[in-house]
Amino acid sequence: MSEPAPSADRPSEHFLFDDEHHQLRRTVRQFVEREINPHADQWEAQCRIPKSLFLRGGELGLFGHSVDPRYGGLGADCRMAVVIAEEMSRARSSGPGMAFGAHAEIALPHLNRFGSDAQKERYLPDMVTGRKVGALGITEPSAGSNVAAMQTTARRQSDRWQLNGSKIFITNAVQADLFFIAAKTDPSAGHRGISMFLLERDTPGFTVEELKGKLGRRASDTGLLTLDNCSLPADALLGELNRGFYQIMQCFENERLVIAAGCVGSADAVLAETVRYTQQRPMGFGTLADMQVTRQRLAKSYMELEAARQLVYHTTWRVVRGMPSLKEVAMTKAFASEAAFRIIDDCLQLHGGYGYFNEYLVERAYRDIRLDRIGGGATEVMYEIIAKQLEL
Ligand SMILES: Cc1cc2nc3c(=O)[nH]c(=O)nc-3n(C[C@H](O)[C@H](O)[C@H](O)COP(=O)(O)OP(=O)(O)OC[C@H]3O[C@@H](n4cnc5c(N)ncnc54)[C@H](O)[C@@H]3O)c2cc1C
Repeated sequence: MSEPAPSADRPSEHFLFDDEHHQLRRTVRQFVEREINPHADQWEAQCRIPKSLFLRGGELGLFGHSVDPRYGGLGADCRMAVVIAEEMSRARSSGPGMAFGAHAEIALPHLNRFGSDAQKERYLPDMVTGRKVGALGITEPSAGSNVAAMQTTARRQSDRWQLNGSKIFITNAVQADLFFIAAKTDPSAGHRGISMFLLERDTPGFTVEELKGKLGRRASDTGLLTLDNCSLPADALLGELNRGFYQIMQCFENERLVIAAGCVGSADAVLAETVRYTQQRPMGFGTLADMQVTRQRLAKSYMELEAARQLVYHTTWRVVRGMPSLKEVAMTKAFASEAAFRIIDDCLQLHGGYGYFNEYLVERAYRDIRLDRIGGGATEVMYEIIAKQLEL
């Protein structure tokens, strides 16, 4: 008997996951179908999700899986993040998944891993419930891939920090309450002179400007942050002084794995819809799906998707076991984002002119997936990490 075509229609059977992951997968899939898909067009047009959706995400337990139960979380490993990213990316807009991911998988881990007990007590419970939304500010107008080249400074003045600079392309900037900001505390020390800071939205001197006109992920807001003599208390330092670069690199592991898992979810959903489309599209004496070239194209895409999925799961397994995985995470992020882009491009081709219109999932997915080869570290940066790790 042959396998059912769209692998997306059944929960993953991989050994990595147990019953609680299967249950979480069902919960998120239902949430996407019932509470995201019906509103996707509206949120895309508004260039944001309603802030209340973060509260709903909190209610469903989508933000606290890695957080200690003391602060309202589950204290679980990153498998839940992988499941959530895969399922959220199956939505008719990957903007909500990106907004949730930027909050729970990109910003929150900085606090969870490096925050003091007082900082965690103060902010983590609200981040877990979605009452406070987080954003991470690393990228600057003149320093993206090269994090060490950032120019934002934090100068110590008696018992306070004075921050000056700007951050660009920051996800959730428009709605976030808490910002995790990287700044140079020792500008002469390159990457050894960066520290992380926790900044509340209403800090005097801090402004946010919404950036519009994105190619994709339109339902997730993006902003430009300006820090003009922002004065922060001494205890706004997050983690160790001048260790911010290393903290950022450690948190990249989770971010990149989650991005890769999202690529798998998006490509899977688009492929499933493309199979259905080709089966009903008349072509010659049959349908588009009856043509050998179509079947082979879809087969190749499923093969690439499976390779990406297995790489995500294998790397997740390594991370869960605490194995050093810098190289593997870079490989996974580069491979999954490039594969998903190729797959979705091929799916659009199979839709012909219909794929160019937003009636079909593939049009938005094609625009949305383009980010994953750039954001969280471009593919070329991943290749550099791999080459360095292999001592090439
Ligand atoms: C929609 C969106 C949301 C984002 N959200 C956030 C966020 O929440 N927080 C945040 O801090 N940042 C965020 N970013 C920024 C994102 O991480 C950066 O855009 C990314 O790291 C690339 O930096 P850059 O845009 O400055 O490109 P550059 O660093 O200028 O790189 C341009 C290109 O040069 C090439 N390149 C770069 N380095 C190398 C190399 N070593 N070898 C070979 N080629 C190379 C790559 O092709 C790369 O795409 C977001 C970006 C976008 C578009």
